Amino acid sequence: METRSEQLFEVAKKYIPGGVNSPVRAFGPVGRTPRFILSARGDRIIDVDGNEMIDYICSWGPGILGHTHPRVIQKVQEACEDGLTYGAPTEKEVQLAELIVQLMPGMEMSRLVSSGTEAVMSAVRVARGYTKRDKIIKFKGCYHGHSDGLLVKAGSAALTTSVPDSAGVPEDYTKNTLVAQYNDRTSVEELFAANPEQIAAVIVEPVAANMGVVLPQKGFLEFLREITERFGSLLIFDEVITGFRLALGGAQGYYGITPDLTTLGKIVGGGMPIGAYGGRKEIMEMVSPVGPVYQAGTLSGNPIATTAGIETLTILKEDPGIYERLEQKAVRIAETIKEAAGGMVCVNQIGSLLSIFFNDKAVTDHESATASHTGKYAEYFSYLLDAGIYVAPSQFEAMFLSDAHTEEDISYTCQKMKEYFREFNS
Ligand SMILES: *Cc1c(COP(=O)(O)O)cnc(C)c1O
Repeated sequence: METRSEQLFEVAKKYIPGGVNSPVRAFGPVGRTPRFILSARGDRIIDVDGNEMIDYICSWGPGILGHTHPRVIQKVQEACEDGLTYGAPTEKEVQLAELIVQLMPGMEMSRLVSSGTEAVMSAVRVARGYTKRDKIIKFKGCYHGHSDGLLVKAGSAALTTSVPDSAGVPEDYTKNTLVAQYNDRTSVEELFAANPEQIAAVIVEPVAANMGVVLPQKGFLEFLREITERFGSLLIFDEVITGFRLALGGAQGYYGITPDLTTLGKIVGGGMPIGAYGGRKEIMEMVSPVGPVYQAGTLSGNPIATTAGIETLTILKEDPGIYERLEQKAVRIAETIKEAAGGMVCVNQIGSLLSIFFNDKAVTDHESATASHTGKYAEYFSYLLDAGIYVAPSQFEAMFLSDAHTEEDISYTCQKMKEYFREFNS
C-alpha cells in the first residue's frame, strides 16, 4: 500500500522539478521517499501519514528553539493582524538590526535580506566594491548559497547529487572565484601569491557544516584573519548556520576572531525567510543609498519575518544556559555513537552541530569527508527513520539539536543508534 507521502511525491514530481523545492529534500542520496510534513511541535515533526518523528534536521538549522515555540507563534500571529508587508521602514527592522549588532562582535551595521544566498551574494558584492578588487577565495566543500559565482565545487546537496558545478553558470561568472582547501593554509597562501592585490575577500564557513560538520583546526581561522589583513583583503564569515547556534555571538564570538563582514540566515529569521549581512560601518556604508554598491529587496525586512527573528533572538539572549544545554545533548549523542561504533566512524561535534561520518579516518576537509561510505550512511538513515528518528538524508549534512529535544527523546535516539551499530556492524 502506498503511503500518502508516496502519493504526494508522485503528484509533486509532475509539477515541481524532482518533486521538491530544494534538492536535498528529495531523499535522493538515501534512496527513500521524502516524508511530506503536516505539522511540528517541540522536537517532533509529524508527516501526512501520521508518523511522528524526533526531528534532528530542525529545518536545517533555524529551529534552535524547537518547533512552534509559543512565544514566537504568538508574536507572529499578532503581527499578521497589522499587515503582511508594507515595503516601507518599520520599527521592528530597527530592533532586529540593533539586536544583531549587539550580539555579533563583527557587525556594526547590518542589512536585512530574505535568504542566506542573498546575504552572501550581497556581502561579496560589498567586499568587491570596498576593495575595488574582483577575486574571492572560497573553500572546497563550503556552501554559500546558490548564487552563480559561488557554485564552484559547492558542498551541500551538490555533493551527493553528483553535480560538482551547476549547468547554467557561465564560466565568466566563476572565473573570479578561487577555491582553496579547508584547513590547508598552504592552499590559501598559494592563491594569494598567484593573485597579488587581486583578492577582494576570503569567504569561509568558520565551522564548515555543509560537507558534514568539519571543525577548523587550531589556528586556521586566526591564519585567515592574519593573511587577509596582510594582503588588504576582507575576511567574510558565512555564519548562516553558525550564527546564534554555536554561541550567541556565532563562531566569531566562540573563537574570538572578528571578520570584516558576516552573513546570517537560518536562525536569524526564527523560522521565517530572513538573511542578513553586515560588518564594519565604513564597509557597510558602501551600500546603497549611502554608497555605490546596489542592493535591494521588495520583501527585505518583512514585518512578520522580523517579528519571528526578534522573538527568537530575544529568547536566546534571555537564556544564557541554552548553549550549554544544547552542547550537552550533542555530546551525549556523540559519545554514544563513538562507544557503539568504535573506530568505524568519525564523529565531528561542536556545540549543537554534529556529523557521523562513516569513515575510519579523521574528517578535516572535503577530500576526507567525501571518502566516507555513503551507502552505510543510507542504511543508518533508513534504520533511524523507521524508528521514528529524522536525521539528514545525506552524509554531508549536519545533525542539529534544539532546546526542545527532551532527555527522553535523546535517550531513545541513543538507544536506537546503539542498536543500529550492534545489528549492522558487529
Ligand atoms: C544554508 C546556507 C546558505 C544559504 O542560505 P539559504 O537561506 O538556503 O539561501 C549559505 N551559507 C551557508 C553556510 C548555509 O548553511
